[in-house]
Amino acid sequence: MQIEKQHIVTWLNLCADTFARNQDFLTDLDRDIGDADHGLNMNRGFSKVRENLPKVQEQNISAILKNTGMTLLSSIGGASGPLYGTLFIRTAASVGAREVLSFAEFIDDLKSGVDGVVSRGKAEQGDKTMCDVWLPVLQHVKTALEKGTDGEYLLDEMVESAEKCAISTIEMRAKKGRASYLGERSIGHQDPGATSSMLMIKALKQAMTG
Ligand code: ADP
Ligand code: MG
Ligand code: MG
Repeated sequence: MQIEKQHIVTWLNLCADTFARNQDFLTDLDRDIGDADHGLNMNRGFSKVRENLPKVQEQNISAILKNTGMTLLSSIGGASGPLYGTLFIRTAASVGAREVLSFAEFIDDLKSGVDGVVSRGKAEQGDKTMCDVWLPVLQHVKTALEKGTDGEYLLDEMVESAEKCAISTIEMRAKKGRASYLGERSIGHQDPGATSSMLMIKALKQAMTG
């Protein structure tokens, strides 16, 4: 499986679709343990990304991802803007000048992006954040790749892992972000950012399978 520019452009468009469809769902999750704006934030951010795509889609993968990060950074107020911005900007830096990536390489590039999110937001696994999806999912995909899993099976495993990880945040107590102010009362609710990350991963599978 290889990733070319068209997959990235399709992925970003599918992210915009999924956040338009799931705006209320994500905002409802954020109403339980936050300030009821996560769906609004993600939809606003990715609508802007979609709007900007025609201007950048002649450039390379790295430039498109970097532009996505800058757009998210400037159009999403709140914690998730700088964090998702960092994810895309650092992933872009890791991709560099390459025009075609193996899926394994792209997973490594995303890992650099997530390392950026961790160094910016200081969340550890189990803190009930978006990192509780990205860190285990990327690790799971890496392990599956090492076992020789590829193609549709690998994408299925990636999505299955993302869904499980998003659900796993329900029982966690938030230690970062707004939800952490609730202490014990954050337990029993699914984390909005973990859920938006899961939706991005589902969109990635869809972009790869067409
Ligand atoms: P805000 O909380 O500022 O309103 P959002 O509602 O858009 O921002 O995003 C909230 C999400 O951001 C949380 O559900 C969580 O997944 C994520 N988040 C918050 N703080 C951190 C952090 N320090 N590291 C990683 N993710 C975080
Ligand atoms: Mg919020
Ligand atoms: Mg907010």
